[in-house]
Amino acid sequence: MIRWFKRKKKKYPQGEEEIISEIPSGDEEESEEEPQEQAESLEELPREPDRPEAGEELEAETEPEALADEGEDEVWEEEEEEAGEIGEEGSLRRKGFFRRLRQRLKGTREKFVHRIDRLVLGKKIIDDELLDELEEILITSDLGVKTTGMLLRKVADKVKRKELSDPSRLREQIREEIKSVLSVEAPLLDYRAHKPLVVMIVGVNGTGKTTTTGKLAHQLKQDGLKPMLAACDTFRAAAVEQLSIWGERTDVPVVKQKSGSDPSAVAFDALDAAVSRDIDVLLMDTAGRMHTKVNLMEELKKIHRVIDRKMPGAPHEVFLVLDASTGQNALSQAKLFKEGIGLTGLILTKLDGTAKGGIIAAICDELQAPVRYIGIGERIDDLRPFDPAEFTNALF
Ligand code: GDP
Ligand code: MG
Repeated sequence: MIRWFKRKKKKYPQGEEEIISEIPSGDEEESEEEPQEQAESLEELPREPDRPEAGEELEAETEPEALADEGEDEVWEEEEEEAGEIGEEGSLRRKGFFRRLRQRLKGTREKFVHRIDRLVLGKKIIDDELLDELEEILITSDLGVKTTGMLLRKVADKVKRKELSDPSRLREQIREEIKSVLSVEAPLLDYRAHKPLVVMIVGVNGTGKTTTTGKLAHQLKQDGLKPMLAACDTFRAAAVEQLSIWGERTDVPVVKQKSGSDPSAVAFDALDAAVSRDIDVLLMDTAGRMHTKVNLMEELKKIHRVIDRKMPGAPHEVFLVLDASTGQNALSQAKLFKEGIGLTGLILTKLDGTAKGGIIAAICDELQAPVRYIGIGERIDDLRPFDPAEFTNALF
């Protein structure tokens, strides 16, 4: 499990060593060291703010061009609300969705795309100096050492082969490369492939598991499916309650037991309930930190085993929820969970209001696991199926 800590390059001193120490082991003592940001968010129940202000914390990076951008996006957002309300045709609605996505990715765009724009401004040739600066932008945009190296090699090769010489085409080139990195090959996600289709939602505390589970239930319902929730995070009363609130909000049944009970027992009950109630999709919310000495990964494996024994082949999907705003930390978590229990898909939350969205490329590149959804806000409809082309277009 430790193997991959060691092969990291030393070149970027703020790299993995520090980050690794922040990964909760699942043990109570060590988990106390969790980043403040995540620990705090645990106490929060889901809420629907009027309008979360994406990119609020990014004022230091805000440039005049970015402000212009924001103005434009806000206008579009109003249009979207209107289109949604009066139920205009799909295309207008899709346009509104896209604008909203674009607006929410503002933080990452400023940190990443706008810096590439400034880098090439007025430059005549792509030389080593320019490539060095590009490297710095990619690294500090959380694309990670490995993915940055890969992208730079591709760009440098094109320059060498004289396929790329104009700096103004650099942005387009990077955009295309990133799109291809994000396009991880994966089977189509078909919720009708099994009945019930069982999904385990896993991840470190505070990443957005419960919120995402609720949003996903809402989305499945809108798609005409019959979802059910299972509160397998039994370690805090508040966690069960939080999922119950989502159940009420989305009008979806929730299987739960009192806090402190065995999460595997809740999973077991939920499978029975799903079969008897003719449920299409069973979404299991799990804990991200144990209040016992039992290792988190072991506990998740146990739930997995219990499900599989009761319903061979299930869980059909294991989605790992990652908080994009934790940057490289999210990548480390992804590796840990992939090794620990195996994943079928990723969900990146909090892409709104963060400048660290570049981590999505590093994660796709290094894990070769598909991103299935992205979270771009706290509202019930702020979970989007992930589309690499749409995402890249919205970002650039
Ligand atoms: P869990 O501990 O993994 O179950 O995390 P929660 O679902 O309780 O979420 C933690 C906090 O993150 C809550 O305040 C959520 O509202 C918030 N959150 C979840 N997803 C997003 C997102 O996509 N964007 C933003 N801005 N906040 C989110
Ligand atoms: Mg939770």
